[in-house]
Amino acid sequence: MSDLPGIVVTGASGRMGQMLMRTISDSPRARLIGALERPGHDWIGQDVGVAMGGAELGIKVTDDPLEAFASAQAVIDFTAPAATVEFATITAQARCVHVIGTTGLSDSDIKKLDAAARHAVIVRAGNMSLGVNLLTQLTKRVAAALDEDFDIEVIEAHHNQKVDAPSGTALMLGEAAAEGRGVSLDNVSDRGRDGITGKRERGHIGFSAIRGGDIVGEHDVLFAAPGERIVLRHLATDRGIFARGALKAALWGIGRKPGAYDMLDVLGLNE
Ligand code: NAP
Repeated sequence: MSDLPGIVVTGASGRMGQMLMRTISDSPRARLIGALERPGHDWIGQDVGVAMGGAELGIKVTDDPLEAFASAQAVIDFTAPAATVEFATITAQARCVHVIGTTGLSDSDIKKLDAAARHAVIVRAGNMSLGVNLLTQLTKRVAAALDEDFDIEVIEAHHNQKVDAPSGTALMLGEAAAEGRGVSLDNVSDRGRDGITGKRERGHIGFSAIRGGDIVGEHDVLFAAPGERIVLRHLATDRGIFARGALKAALWGIGRKPGAYDMLDVLGLNE
């Protein structure tokens, strides 16, 4: 049997789940050892390769996280907040790396993940791509260099199946802008304007979300002042960037001391 690190993917039938399993299966540095779906899903008990419409991979989809995580070195999880919080207690017990791409987590969910990170390595990011993580650093720098004459707006676009807004990436970018300005995003965030909203408040950071078709993920950070504008933009055209980032995070996390990490740690971009 290969001694490559064994990785389990949750939400196996999802858009990201399938992309992750293909990425891991093609990687010379890791092996896929398990695929998880929720109880009652019609993939349970099927070979995951066949369920995806391809050749057998010799791995049956299971609905039992305890059994699936027991022999894993890392779990890659792009599912839903309730599932991710439940998985975190199990990955902490199993002492395996938990890479979390799930977005839409509440503050109370994040507290529970932080508790689990006392026992296991958790790498969580609203966006696992190198480009977006670089963009957060650029956003922080530009926001720090410009004063409040520049209104900051984060504009994002995603496919029509996305259930949360603003996107996890838009929030990461908003946090980076707020950090650059030395303010708390909670105090300056403008979300979902509609109707007679009154004038824009100086110093606020606005968010707008577009939903349509099969857009993988597009983010603009706009700095608008009288007479000039700066736009920092990232366009994702292939979900493979998130899957490759998540696999990199899983391999980076193996053998590290327990704690809550993000992609800036993985990519060595933390200042
Ligand atoms: P998706 O296609 O809806 O896939 C989600 C999968 O999770 C589905 O297969 C779903 O099963 C499964 N699931 C939900 N609850 C579960 C449970 N309790 N146990 C096991 N499986 C469960 O969504 P997606 O586009 O792949 O995105 C998934 C998440 O990743 C979202 O939060 C999205 O915003 C995020 N995302 C993050 C990044 C990043 O770089 N961080 C990039 C892309 C997407 P059912 O179909 O049965 O509900």
